[in-house]
Amino acid sequence: MMARVVVLGAGISGHTAALHLRRLLPREHEVVVVSPNSKWNWIPSNIWVGVGKMDTEQVTFPLAPIYKRKGIVFHQALGIELHPEGTGEKAHPYVRVRYTDPTRAGEEANLEYDYLINATGPKLNFAATPGLGPDANTVSVCTAGHAVEASKALNEVIEKMKKGERQSLVVGVGHGTCTCEGAAFEYTFNVEHELRAAGVRDMADLTYLTNEYELGDFGVGGMTFSQGGLETSSKLWTESLFRERGVKAVLQSHVEKVEPGEIHYEQLDGSKNTLAFDFAMLLPPFRGADLKAFNNAGDDITADIFAPNGFMRVDADYTAKPYDEWRAGDWPHTYESALYANVFGVGIAFAPPHAISRPRTSPNGTVISPAPPRTGMPSGVMGKTVALTIVSRIKLGTTTATHRASMADMGASCVASAGTGLLHGSAAAMTMYPIVPDFEKYPTGRSQKDTFGEIGLAGHWIKFMLHFLFIYKAKARPFWYLIPE
Ligand SMILES: Cc1cc2nc3c(=O)[nH]c(=O)nc-3n(C[C@H](O)[C@H](O)[C@H](O)COP(=O)(O)OP(=O)(O)OC[C@H]3O[C@@H](n4cnc5c(N)ncnc54)[C@H](O)[C@@H]3O)c2cc1C
Repeated sequence: MMARVVVLGAGISGHTAALHLRRLLPREHEVVVVSPNSKWNWIPSNIWVGVGKMDTEQVTFPLAPIYKRKGIVFHQALGIELHPEGTGEKAHPYVRVRYTDPTRAGEEANLEYDYLINATGPKLNFAATPGLGPDANTVSVCTAGHAVEASKALNEVIEKMKKGERQSLVVGVGHGTCTCEGAAFEYTFNVEHELRAAGVRDMADLTYLTNEYELGDFGVGGMTFSQGGLETSSKLWTESLFRERGVKAVLQSHVEKVEPGEIHYEQLDGSKNTLAFDFAMLLPPFRGADLKAFNNAGDDITADIFAPNGFMRVDADYTAKPYDEWRAGDWPHTYESALYANVFGVGIAFAPPHAISRPRTSPNGTVISPAPPRTGMPSGVMGKTVALTIVSRIKLGTTTATHRASMADMGASCVASAGTGLLHGSAAAMTMYPIVPDFEKYPTGRSQKDTFGEIGLAGHWIKFMLHFLFIYKAKARPFWYLIPE
């Protein structure tokens, strides 16, 4: 019998899932992608767009021709409602979508599915902090469009410095519960590199503003590295990078609001402070896409399927427990929805069981600690894992989730690369395995052999190469599937 798999979201996890599904499923089965943007974006390279080293054309490409060539049905639309039990007598599951495709913008339709993958990534929640974001007082590098604006704003302050005006630049996160500190760290490096290249470094005060308890936390509770047989920490390593480059750090901060030229923030000790700026790139906190869910009778079951932050509950252990009782085994393996076995949540869209960094709250009750990152590689791996499970179900009739991949069994790299080109770049590269520490397996929570930090041109080459490799893969060029996630 013909089966239809609907993938919501054509980002790293959804696009990977869709390509693998189409590669592995016989043609009589349908693979459908629903995503609001006409273009795919290699988000990690937005950092380079944000300093004017790449343009949007280099980090995006239109999805429709790729999907046409591959035989994937594409709806340029937003998923808005899940109906996993269908409605009334029509008991086939479906998802309601609203088109963003300019030829039918605003129109709504129901798409039936046999399997659904929610790969909707993060909603950029600028609204959580008054005055935050490109529509208000700060810039962002989260989308290619935002990054172009960031680059323009950076050029403006550089021009002022060239005329002798001292400028304050702030890069970091715009809320106490943000994640993705690695991206803010990388952008800091790139901005610093550009200031030096423009000959204005001495005219700039550059500050990294973060919710991390200490430098090097990155939302993964920091890392222990072995260097020359000695143990060192990501804290010492990051501190020395900041010192060498003259970047100040303001830690343990929750941005309360941003006024033109002034950031108001609270710190873990409860103090309230301000920071003046001429240029500020602050990442927003993330929440899940605004999806609602209804049962067969039409009752709203959104709160059963999704966590309060909008991320989808999957096969994780969501029991609330203190930090000391957190276990690697709490993290999901199959990404199957807790309620519907034919629905999956992958990439940033799944609800993590808890943070990775130790949770901390100020005396005023404000949570100031990073949310757990879900970076590109794990997102791709989850997409592929779920695609393989669905393929087994369709082809072999299996009923369980046959493929598993936990973030407690996956590694990640954060390559903070500055400058482009093969001779002028440099990078601070960190690699960790696993992402979610496992203190039962490893005394420091992670494998010492596979967790390290490196500085130099080689890391930059890797990042530069990944840019081309991943765009090649996402374009589904010949043998794309040989490139690992
Ligand atoms: C500036 C920046 C730099 C980064 N650098 C790195 C890096 O160097 N290395 C790394 O590993 N990771 C990096 N990351 C993280 C990486 O980009 C994410 O981990 C990854 O994109 C997550 O994949 P995803 O598929 O979950 O979400 P996304 O890639 O964000 O994709 C989500 C998709 O869902 C679509 N969508 C949203 N709502 C709906 C809806 N209602 N219906 C249908 N579709 C919807 C979106 O339009 C998008 O296409 C960076 C992130 C940022 C912001």
